[in-house]
Amino acid sequence: MQEKTTTDLSTTCIHSGDLKDSHGAVHMPLYDATTFRFSSTEQLLEVIDGKRAGYLYTRYGMNPTIISLEEKIAAIDGAEAALAFGAGMAALSALFLACGTHGIACVGDVYGGTLELLDRQLPGLGIKTHHVSPQKLETLETVLSGGVKLVFFETPSNPLLEVIDIRKVTDIAHRHGALAAIDNTFASPVNQRPLELGVDFTMQSATKYLGGHSSVTGGVISAKAALLERIKPWRKNLGQMISPDQAHRLASQLGTLSLRVEKQNANAFAIAKFLAVHPKVSRVFYPGLPSHPNHEVAKRQMSGFGGMVTFDYKGSSADSTRVIEKLKIFSLAPSLGGVESLVTQPHTTSHHDLSAAERAEIGITDTMARLSVGIENETDLIADLEQALDS
Ligand code: PLP
Repeated sequence: MQEKTTTDLSTTCIHSGDLKDSHGAVHMPLYDATTFRFSSTEQLLEVIDGKRAGYLYTRYGMNPTIISLEEKIAAIDGAEAALAFGAGMAALSALFLACGTHGIACVGDVYGGTLELLDRQLPGLGIKTHHVSPQKLETLETVLSGGVKLVFFETPSNPLLEVIDIRKVTDIAHRHGALAAIDNTFASPVNQRPLELGVDFTMQSATKYLGGHSSVTGGVISAKAALLERIKPWRKNLGQMISPDQAHRLASQLGTLSLRVEKQNANAFAIAKFLAVHPKVSRVFYPGLPSHPNHEVAKRQMSGFGGMVTFDYKGSSADSTRVIEKLKIFSLAPSLGGVESLVTQPHTTSHHDLSAAERAEIGITDTMARLSVGIENETDLIADLEQALDS
């Protein structure tokens, strides 16, 4: 059978990476084997030495279900190759360990777990992170002049949905001979195509939009194959591989990625507009709103504005907590990107492990709520928010 060729993302989501099963299955089945047998030692050595393609040992990633998933991710991201991991944090830690030994320049806000890794754990291994404000990119030039070789950023960021100019940051990195890596989890490749804007590594927590049903824990990185070779030994020897059953489930659920994200974009935009004029809401953070400080950059580099909306409640912290507890369709749960709508307060979840002073510095308040908008009916979602806010 011929590989289907297309430039359309929804067709790619369904048909890439699926056509190699020798029994003709319409999608790659689950191969749960931890190891694969050979008819001779010569054949085994050829595969181990990389002289011949083949499957070998699942922890190395040499498993048909995992390789098929990686081909699908690479096609979706428009990359030469991709690597799958057991979690988004596994992908990030492998990236930092492989490419951050000369220090890391972190531009803007990042997910709380990433910040903890960068600021509390990696310094113990001699890896220093230099934080740079996206408003002061001249500092990035100074940091890179000091020999730092990896620039990392997240856009839109968690939870304030700050949007960073991808091309601008990447150009600065490249001018100094550094690599640019982005966490594209919040946007997903449906809304934002970082590799097309020059970025070297695009990483995502597959636990979020890629899996999309709150039933997969995984992470992915897409890049040029030669760059991924630097990361592979870390994944292998830290045992960070995605399990075949999670890889299989993720590949199936990627089939609906475009459909889901487009509906989430539409629902989130409608909710952002509703919240923007609600008297109990002091501020809405959504890159699609003209009032968003980075709206022009978002329009330039995103084709949709995503399913995440953050808002600040006009009232006390206790009242804001009561409001989110009154929601009936939105579940109070950490995480994001699933078909079901979720709500959290960043100070109690994603950024809970930071001190109050660290949160204040980022701009996270105790009255803030972050919505991960699902694919339910838009009117139902708005009615749910309305009854909670008005209660
Ligand atoms: N990056 C972002 C933007 C996230 O929101 C998260 C988790 O919430 C991660 C990375 C880490 O992903 P995982 O939980 O799959 O390790």
